[in-house]
Amino acid sequence: MTASIRAAAPVSGPPHAHRLPEGAALAEAARAALESRGEQWTQLRAAVFESLGGFDRPASAYDIAEDLSRRQERRVAANSIYRILDLFVASNVAQRIESANAYVANPHPGCRHDCIFLVCARCGVTLHLDDDAIAGQVRAAAAAAGFRAERPVIEVRGLCPACTAGGGD
Ligand SMILES: [Zn+2]
Ligand SMILES: [Zn+2]
Ligand SMILES: [Zn+2]
Repeated sequence: MTASIRAAAPVSGPPHAHRLPEGAALAEAARAALESRGEQWTQLRAAVFESLGGFDRPASAYDIAEDLSRRQERRVAANSIYRILDLFVASNVAQRIESANAYVANPHPGCRHDCIFLVCARCGVTLHLDDDAIAGQVRAAAAAAGFRAERPVIEVRGLCPACTAGGGD
């Protein structure tokens, strides 16, 4: 797996050790987050999480359905993947990248942040940042306008380091 979707430590906010588990440890943290909501980590949900983590850029329900259909040699319907992704987002196990209309695995399922995403317009690689001070200011600005913020969506489109250097796809 590539580390294209990666996270930096939070640069501000209440200091806490931001553990970013990977591989089996990440799947275990995702499972714990789901089970803490009384949901079960079924085989299909585990397979969706694994598939999602295998993409090096945000994946749609169709991408995952196609990947699982190939691996399991049976047709997996995108509709059932949508429902699982919705549950994953609600459980902090995955995150929706609005501008890409797709999803990434959350590298910190045990910890909620208003994550900031840097989305490469050329190759699609998406970098993940946590800066609670910026997100907090967005929430405060919304509140000052009398708006009750549910979830700030902070996505920056541009070119990733590889594409900036002339590489990328
Ligand atoms: Zn955290
Ligand atoms: Zn984050
Ligand atoms: Zn790029």
